[in-house]
Amino acid sequence: MNKATWLLALGLLACGCASIPSPLTPGFRGSIGSPAFGVLTLSEQLPERGTGFRRLRPWSKRYHGTPALVRTLTEAAARVWQEGEPPLLVGDISAQGGGPLPGHHSHRTGRDADLLFYYTTPSGVPVEAPGFVRVGPDGLAEAEGGVFVRFDTARNWRLVRALLTSEVARPQWIFVVAHLKGLLLEYAFASGEPASLVWQAENILHQPSDSSPHDDHFHLRIACSEEESLAGCVTGPPWWPWWPEELRLNDEVDAEKEEPLGSYAK
Ligand SMILES: [Zn+2]
Repeated sequence: MNKATWLLALGLLACGCASIPSPLTPGFRGSIGSPAFGVLTLSEQLPERGTGFRRLRPWSKRYHGTPALVRTLTEAAARVWQEGEPPLLVGDISAQGGGPLPGHHSHRTGRDADLLFYYTTPSGVPVEAPGFVRVGPDGLAEAEGGVFVRFDTARNWRLVRALLTSEVARPQWIFVVAHLKGLLLEYAFASGEPASLVWQAENILHQPSDSSPHDDHFHLRIACSEEESLAGCVTGPPWWPWWPEELRLNDEVDAEKEEPLGSYAK
């Protein structure tokens, strides 16, 4: 290959790279790429504890998220929490710098967070989540030692509502098993929540078809903001009709590699 061909090849390479999300591409920053194929720069760490929440594993280095995700979580937890109640336990978010996180397909761009459910005792006293325990259609879960806890539908709905009405970020998905989605929606209807809010919840609460059913935690994924989209963040479909038009900036990118609903949810 002569010198001119080399230069041309280098030039083509540079042009090609400019369209691929990469931490090395100038101008791209923050949440770059899609949750299952991306990285994270300029992250913020979720504090070990705060009003109404604490980390499930305080020592873990998997608590890096976008500033918007961290604020969405901390604000939602504070809104749900009432004096004397146990906090929301937060599981993995992303590694510093994002990228692959063992045990997960997604969680690569600081926009995914695993949130343990709120529970009560079988007789209705709020208790801290005993970890990742599988909740059945009757709302009960067996924890270590044969102790039973009950899915706290009221508080879990308050969390879903706080996330859906967040002024910081727009949730794209809250992955959860179908039978718990049913409990939450029934409760919301019965409590007289606005129909538009329940309709949003009906769309966003979703049992993924290609990963764990999420019967032991919620998995929150937030969409890119308009600014983040310009800096390399890829929300991907679906773009919910209640979102502003500007969020469709990534139409072209996603048309090429559309993923099935709920793909890489874990
Ligand atoms: Zn997850």
